[in-house]
Amino acid sequence: MGKLFREYLNNSCVYSCSNCHTHLAAEDALVSKAFQGRLGRAYLFNEVVNIECGPAEEKMLMTGLHSIRDVHCSHCRAYLGWKYEMAFEQEQKYKVGKVILEKEHTQKENGWR
Ligand SMILES: [Zn+2]
Repeated sequence: MGKLFREYLNNSCVYSCSNCHTHLAAEDALVSKAFQGRLGRAYLFNEVVNIECGPAEEKMLMTGLHSIRDVHCSHCRAYLGWKYEMAFEQEQKYKVGKVILEKEHTQKENGWR
């Protein structure tokens, strides 16, 4: 049941899956690099492509209760991070619909800086 279509981002600065190089997000979509993932530093993006979301789960994070979905690469199925489905604290609601990608699992395609 593999998905044949992969979306390609036309930006010169693209974050991709560190395992299979599938494009994930453009640098323009980056909101913040100041997030803590399960494996270390993590980035928050407005928009991420070529991902599959798992079931929504309620999790108590450092910033309060959130409903999140694990996010996997749609090509190689590697774990990448999570998507915010719902936030219960008013000041965290800006994250809803946005996606965290673990730095550990992403790379800068073509080695841009
Ligand atoms: Zn991948």
